[in-house]
Amino acid sequence: MIETLAAIYVFIVGLCVGSFLNVCIGRWPEGLSVVKPRSRCPKCGHKIKASENIPIVSWLMLRGRCSGCGDRISIQYPIVELLVGLLWLAAFFQFGLTFTAFRVAVLATVLLGISLTDAKYFLIPDGFTVFGVLFVILTSLIALFLGEAEPFARPWDAMIGMCVGAGAIAIVGWLGEVWLKRPAMGFGDVTLMAVVGAAVGPTRALLTIFIGAVLAPVVLLGVVYPLSARGLADDKGQTELALEASGGWKKRELPFGVFLAPAAVIALLFGDAIIAWYLRISGL
Ligand SMILES: [Zn+2]
Repeated sequence: MIETLAAIYVFIVGLCVGSFLNVCIGRWPEGLSVVKPRSRCPKCGHKIKASENIPIVSWLMLRGRCSGCGDRISIQYPIVELLVGLLWLAAFFQFGLTFTAFRVAVLATVLLGISLTDAKYFLIPDGFTVFGVLFVILTSLIALFLGEAEPFARPWDAMIGMCVGAGAIAIVGWLGEVWLKRPAMGFGDVTLMAVVGAAVGPTRALLTIFIGAVLAPVVLLGVVYPLSARGLADDKGQTELALEASGGWKKRELPFGVFLAPAAVIALLFGDAIIAWYLRISGL
């Protein structure tokens, strides 16, 4: 019973954090403050009332439309709220009502925000990464005193991991640039890997880059290109044209952060097991 109540409470907290994450995703890429002013409808300027700001519920009650002008409210809002709610719930089920669960939930929320802004705007706002680095390192000190460092890196490993993560991805970007003869990666990926390295330490930071490098082509070739190609081919009936035009992502810098973010979560939760398994089968 108490377990169920705690789960409901954690889920609701997650929904509210998700609601705030929507504000960050919407405003940081534009260089706006997330604190003020209050949210308004971008079309008619209608101020969003508190009763219209309840995660998921309000969107459903309003049937996805502004109460002022009837303009559509993106389904991105309730989806992000639900995703963050589920992330927080998953952290609770895995780690219980602990400080570790809180750290995992907050980090996963930041990484989701980074994934979404990188996919949508091809940039990683400093708001996410500066907060991420400070949060991870400060909480690593607290966790040490509480005696629950795992699965995060301890403070000293966090400092080294931050430098190794940022340095390693900078090297990958530099070599990519030499090879492709054009900018291959944004500086945002370097700041993202500083956060990730601080969270998981140097070894799993390298593993994160490796997993990201495996995920990226699989997702791009397996999901993104076929989907965008099919969508365009249906319109124009010309597959070649579609393939050429599908490269909104092809012509730009690769939004590697989209893949590094989930890779970081995998490395945090399963990295030690993956590395132990690899050392065993490779005989290193
Ligand atoms: Zn409106």
